[in-house]
Amino acid sequence: MRPDALNPLFVEIDALDGVGPKLKKPLEKLGLTRVRDLDYHLPDRFVTRRAVQNLDEAGEGEHIVIALTVTEHRASRNQRGPYRVLAQDSIGNVLAITYFGRASYSAKKLLPVGELRWVAGKLERYGDMLQIVHPDHVVEEGGDTLQRLCEPVYRLSEGLTQPKIAGLVRQSLERTPELPEWIERSQVDTAAWPAWRDALVLAHKAEHEGARDRLAYDELLANSLALMLVRADNRKRRGQALVGDGKLRDRLNLPFPLTGAQTRSIAEIEGDLAQQSPMLRLLQGDVGAGKTVVALEAMLIAVEAGVQAALLAPTEILARQHFDTIRNLVEPTGAQVALLTGRGSTRGGSKAREATLMGLMDGSIDIVIGTHAIFQDSVSYRDLAMVVIDEQHRFGVGQRLMLASKGKRAPHVLAMTATPIPRTLTLAQYGELDVSKLDELPPGRQAIDTRVIGMERLAEVVEGVARHVGGGQQAYWVCPMVRELDGPGEDIAAAEARYASLKERFGKDVVLVHGQLSPEMKAAGMERFASGDAKLLVATTVIEVGVDVPNATLMVIEQAERFGLAQLHQLRGRVGRGSEKSVCLLLRGGELSETARSRLALMRETQDGFRLAEEDLQLRGGGELLGTRQSGDSPFNIATLEQITKLLPKAHDDARMLIERDGGLSSPRGEAARMLLYLFERDWGVQMLRGG
Ligand code: ADP
Ligand code: MG
Repeated sequence: MRPDALNPLFVEIDALDGVGPKLKKPLEKLGLTRVRDLDYHLPDRFVTRRAVQNLDEAGEGEHIVIALTVTEHRASRNQRGPYRVLAQDSIGNVLAITYFGRASYSAKKLLPVGELRWVAGKLERYGDMLQIVHPDHVVEEGGDTLQRLCEPVYRLSEGLTQPKIAGLVRQSLERTPELPEWIERSQVDTAAWPAWRDALVLAHKAEHEGARDRLAYDELLANSLALMLVRADNRKRRGQALVGDGKLRDRLNLPFPLTGAQTRSIAEIEGDLAQQSPMLRLLQGDVGAGKTVVALEAMLIAVEAGVQAALLAPTEILARQHFDTIRNLVEPTGAQVALLTGRGSTRGGSKAREATLMGLMDGSIDIVIGTHAIFQDSVSYRDLAMVVIDEQHRFGVGQRLMLASKGKRAPHVLAMTATPIPRTLTLAQYGELDVSKLDELPPGRQAIDTRVIGMERLAEVVEGVARHVGGGQQAYWVCPMVRELDGPGEDIAAAEARYASLKERFGKDVVLVHGQLSPEMKAAGMERFASGDAKLLVATTVIEVGVDVPNATLMVIEQAERFGLAQLHQLRGRVGRGSEKSVCLLLRGGELSETARSRLALMRETQDGFRLAEEDLQLRGGGELLGTRQSGDSPFNIATLEQITKLLPKAHDDARMLIERDGGLSSPRGEAARMLLYLFERDWGVQMLRGG
């Protein structure tokens, strides 16, 4: 399916010279598995060096290239200590070239005593000695190094070096073909952007705003195009008009009146369902806004209309919680609700699972709640016509929308999210969806008292938790988010260590839940907490979304500065759900940057998720990458926030115009646009074209 011209870009990285199993791992860690990925592994920044005759000409902290004569090798007595090579410049100044760890082996070979070498690196002072630690280059002839006074600095992982990755990028670029232009001609001309391949080459060579912008624009255009194609496809499909008679909803006895926002959203959904073209609607509402009830009413409309509805949750914990809540609420209506999660983990074992599968097939089950398992091929439905997707930012936008187009008749889709997305990103994420907003919290909610506390007061905090728990209420303890580089296992280790120490104080009152426990263990842990049997829940961020235990009114978040504001907000939303006053303690580590300080202060100041999202964006600054992998709030890898703000509206219009003129993407430019979709793996957009 993929156009042949793109094949060289999707060649596995092993095909490059020098990539063996040893190098593959660190590359994979950076998400680099194909030529295309290396092409797009753009430099974080560039170093500019100055060639100097002698050290008197160079300043400390400066990046230099200099010719030196090696005089002596000094291994450290202590094995973990540094390995120093002493060398002299042309007028007799002494410099140490310092290596740590395994790098010292190469020093022996690279810097023989008595020889002249060109060394490139950052000049530093250590005590009264000048030194260069781990030089970027050591070469016999200066020529080549002197040519490259400006060099890219790439994001690395353990086991990679700058020269190694630069070499691989060079190979990838050599294999990269020129591709036809997919951007509107006038846009390329006005902005004076280079062609695609040239832009890649330039972006790796030096700071080049035009090249960077062009590459970012490509990504934005691909995303807009794909979303529009899916939307257009969806409009063409025939769904099933669902009109309920209200007989089930009337029997639902909710313990509270609906808020105005809930009533309005339900009406909007009801209006969509009554249409034949399938609904594609996003329900946006801050944590605690009451999305579950809206989803339930929507599903009951479907059941009243004689079809089945499904609710898809991102985790097993959430699926079970929804199941418990919804089963209780619908009891008086007589609608049949079932839970379906990963293999063998359904309550009651495989017999119950079989029964559920049967019930879905013969239509005796009206509503199914579960994880992605509900969409496995082995699960068939008599007539599934309505799908609710909860906390939908956890799923890829593509897959989500694809669901809408699966099967002969497209189901109506309601996606729900509590992630307050900054306005800039709404268009990117949901540009083509209809949106209902729950902009009103249920009455009686109390503000959460949020405090920032230094980690040195840990003992006091533990005593505070003890008093809280002693008073009959429950608490969450969220463990630090460890840097992504350290791997997800580190988060677990931190949680386990904290659990062990809290267990000494709280005994069996404390329970641990993290992402690597089996689904059964996780569910059992959550249930102990939800039932009130356990008083303190120690967790990684698995509790982030949706969990609802109203008696839990204290939340402790360790190393809060490591979390994004949006994520802190989500976490904090786990408390303040009942009528009791709630408290959130943000424990901070030692030294904080100015930004980190402001972010935590902002958490103290406001509870408005949308404001937090906007301010977070401001604080992180336009130039900084969104860190998509951690935060999940941007669907982009290349485009920075600044670029999104600057370029997305144009890219969006560009995509719209192209689709209006050439909806089938069959003109030459349309063909080029298809390549773009494949290049950014938005080919689910292309697949939409086939059906229609
Ligand atoms: P979220 O939008 O985060 O999914 P939930 O649906 O879990 O929120 O609702 C949060 C809490 O608010 C639940 O305990 C729910 O029973 C309660 N709730 C929902 N709607 C109302 C309402 N209209 N009045 C009072 N409480 C409500
Ligand atoms: Mg929820």
